[in-house]
Amino acid sequence: MSTYVNGQPYDLAIVGAGIIGQALAYHAAKRGMRVGVFERSGAPQGASIRNFGLIWPIGQPTGPRFQLALDSLRHWEVLAGEAGLDLRRTGSLHLAYRDEEMTVLEDFTANHLGHGHQCRLVGVDEVGAMSQVARLDGLKGALWSGTECQISSPQALPRIAQYLQAGLDVLFHWHHAVTAVEPGVLSAGGAQYRANRIVVCPGADLDTLFPKLLQGAGLRPVRLQMLAAQPARAQELGPALCAGLTLLHYPAFETCGALPSLRKILQAQAPEATAHGVHILLSQHASGEFIIGDSHDHDPNPSPFNSEAVDAVILRHLADMTVPLDLRITRRWQGVYVNPPKGESTLLHPAEGVWIITGLGGAGMTLSLGLTAKWLAETFGA
Ligand SMILES: Cc1cc2nc3c(=O)[nH]c(=O)nc-3n(C[C@H](O)[C@H](O)[C@H](O)COP(=O)(O)OP(=O)(O)OC[C@H]3O[C@@H](n4cnc5c(N)ncnc54)[C@H](O)[C@@H]3O)c2cc1C
Repeated sequence: MSTYVNGQPYDLAIVGAGIIGQALAYHAAKRGMRVGVFERSGAPQGASIRNFGLIWPIGQPTGPRFQLALDSLRHWEVLAGEAGLDLRRTGSLHLAYRDEEMTVLEDFTANHLGHGHQCRLVGVDEVGAMSQVARLDGLKGALWSGTECQISSPQALPRIAQYLQAGLDVLFHWHHAVTAVEPGVLSAGGAQYRANRIVVCPGADLDTLFPKLLQGAGLRPVRLQMLAAQPARAQELGPALCAGLTLLHYPAFETCGALPSLRKILQAQAPEATAHGVHILLSQHASGEFIIGDSHDHDPNPSPFNSEAVDAVILRHLADMTVPLDLRITRRWQGVYVNPPKGESTLLHPAEGVWIITGLGGAGMTLSLGLTAKWLAETFGA
């Protein structure tokens, strides 16, 4: 063994500095554990900095997962205060331009709300008072929810890492690709490190550590296209916006009786959107940039190339739900996450003292702080 950490093993070594790895490091360090994080890049560069930065409880199914999202939100609010993050509770509006979309929203508010929802249906005038950006022409109504928050992920993830290191004594090993993990020891950067417990949080990398186990776990990669744009004049977005296509996307609405007929209508009226898994979310980072997405490509070998045609579909459907914005596209990118075969995540336990946590799909920002707190409490006691 060539490297020891001050002669002492870590209580917990974490592989991966995405939001899951950092959330776990945060809770473990708060419990007094001596934590090391090993990340192959020089900074977080995975899905956790490529997203909308939305903490989106409203998308989670009513019940334990919605409660987990609310727990996560409470942790985000504490962490934001401690680390100096720009976390804004903007809320969200689901805009309905079709009768069938309105029916789904009515069903949701009548039958599917659970403890902690802060939702209500709002009329066109109220939408106009809440948002300068939503298109009011043709609008039937909307669902307002007050639980959604906005964070600027590309700034937030490095800032959380700085806080963990300076404030909670978490040691980050950047540019350390972990090439092997065995009980009590991991290999990275040509050296070995001892740790009593090791948790691998590899995001969408199913090929490096425990490849057979991860590839056999039924996780499915999903590739998303995203854009950022500057509006011609500085504009406050207010609540994050989405519309009918989003009702097909999030599990929260799955049990609404009118959803199957809405799906059929959208497949007929917006075939290019449903074919590419496009649903539109509009959020705003602290810079004032609008963050626009997204598409969902389920090819098991995600292409590195963005499709201009898919970006055009995204922008066309965005224009259907906003006032004319005169946007200047500033950046385009893609991100990949892995969907679990079932449940809200995938948790594997390949060896004594070794775990893998991944597969939060499109809800990693929303669930990770709650999920890792719960996992630590269940695994090591309250
Ligand atoms: C475009 C897009 C938009 C999204 N929008 C939202 C949203 O608004 N709200 C929301 O809740 N969720 C959203 N998500 C989902 C969310 O971003 C992900 O669920 C979450 O970021 C996954 O976090 P992670 O830590 O598992 O993965 P990542 O952020 O990908 O982190 C994994 C890290 O592990 C490192 N790593 C892997 N293997 C090794 C190794 N062997 N050695 C060292 N390092 C290693 C990688 O380099 C990487 O930094 C979105 C996702 C995408 C792609």
